[in-house]
Amino acid sequence: MGLGGCAAQSAAPVTAPVPKPASTVLQMDRPPVLAPVRAHSDRFFDFKVCIRPFRTKGPNLDVEQVGDCLVVHNYGHGGSGWSLSWGSADMAVAKALSGSPKEIAVVGCGIIGLTSAITALRAGAKVTIYTRELLPRTRSVRANGSWTPDSRIALTSEAPAHFGDTWEQMARISWKNLRPYIGMAGNPVAFTDHYYLTDAPRGTPQPVDPTWPKLPPPSWTGGPTSSEDFAKYSDRIKDITAHTQELPPDANPFPVKYAARSTSMFFNFTEYGHLLTEEFFARGGKIVMRDFHAPAELGHLPQKVVIDCTGFAARDFWQDKAMVPVRGQTGWLIPQPEVNYALTYRNVQILSKSDGIMVMALENGELKGYNNSDESVNRAESERAVKVIEDLFAHFPVSRA
Ligand SMILES: Cc1cc2nc3c(=O)[nH]c(=O)nc-3n(C[C@H](O)[C@H](O)[C@H](O)COP(=O)(O)OP(=O)(O)OC[C@H]3O[C@@H](n4cnc5c(N)ncnc54)[C@H](O)[C@@H]3O)c2cc1C
Repeated sequence: MGLGGCAAQSAAPVTAPVPKPASTVLQMDRPPVLAPVRAHSDRFFDFKVCIRPFRTKGPNLDVEQVGDCLVVHNYGHGGSGWSLSWGSADMAVAKALSGSPKEIAVVGCGIIGLTSAITALRAGAKVTIYTRELLPRTRSVRANGSWTPDSRIALTSEAPAHFGDTWEQMARISWKNLRPYIGMAGNPVAFTDHYYLTDAPRGTPQPVDPTWPKLPPPSWTGGPTSSEDFAKYSDRIKDITAHTQELPPDANPFPVKYAARSTSMFFNFTEYGHLLTEEFFARGGKIVMRDFHAPAELGHLPQKVVIDCTGFAARDFWQDKAMVPVRGQTGWLIPQPEVNYALTYRNVQILSKSDGIMVMALENGELKGYNNSDESVNRAESERAVKVIEDLFAHFPVSRA
């Protein structure tokens, strides 16, 4: 019997399928199936605490003379050092090489010191790094490691008039310099989707979780009094960064009412640090382990041009009163390579990296940890944060029936 005969036998009325309303999210933009995070406090295998080298006036790139030595400063990058390092290095090295010295010294081997040293080597100078710690022991590797170029970078009231222009130049040069690391083996620098989950519409006040610690009374006088007092410049580089897209309910894979998503860059410290160190030595760079106790000691170095990349230590070394410690803590869950995204929910951020899933509490915004130089681990803080993520994934995935 032909197909026509088959159709003729069917007596039941055929009801046309009710067309589903078209989603406002295009197929290409719909989130893929996401692997859940195994968010339990017993899976923490590391905690890192660090103080951001925040400078209320923005990073110091001034030049000063110490004896017969020209010192070019390059410190004070707050919560943006990984992001701005290449741009800041470019500016510092241009100043350092302005008198065409054959050799220069770099003090410090954090992300700012290492990128400054490589930039000078690429420009043809001989470079010696003097440092008391190598990269894996520096504060740099205790960071979160996302592209956050205007995180705690200055106070609006204290940033120099044209700092926005300087910042933009730094951010754009860095972005260009990071480009070659994308797609390299081990993903030293990579992109990830970042989901922003909220219980109330984004941009409106969120319900306050009573279990979260309140901000302690300020241990400083004057500003800042809120996150709004910190300078923000990211609108200036909107043309190179992905925008945030709201995800309607049919494209929201999470058991939370509101979701938005962006795609951002992040750093895998181990691979990236390894590549930088390798390039430094391959270009003939030398490292001398040394702990300086006073600026005058720099005048005794054989190199007569020094780039000073001492990070937060610059506060005491140079008696820089504009430097303020901003404490930050990250907890690290055992790596899950199948988890390939970041999310922020109820003041907690997680970011899946090759060396672990970073968990960080964000309550109180930019004021969190301000003027706090305590670098001891507060395990309760990370446990509270992971509990938020544990509760989220206990209801994951949301039924899409
Ligand atoms: C919790 C947290 C999260 C962060 N997240 C991000 C992020 O997501 N994205 C981002 O871009 N940035 C982030 N940051 C900021 C970033 O980590 C810093 O801006 C950056 O690491 C500063 O690097 P640095 O090289 O100036 O300082 P450091 O890493 O502190 O390096 C200073 C170097 O100077 C040496 N040194 C200091 N004094 C002396 C001396 N007297 N003699 C000899 N050597 C000396 C030290 O040994 C060290 O080698 C974060 C920071 C924290 C704390």
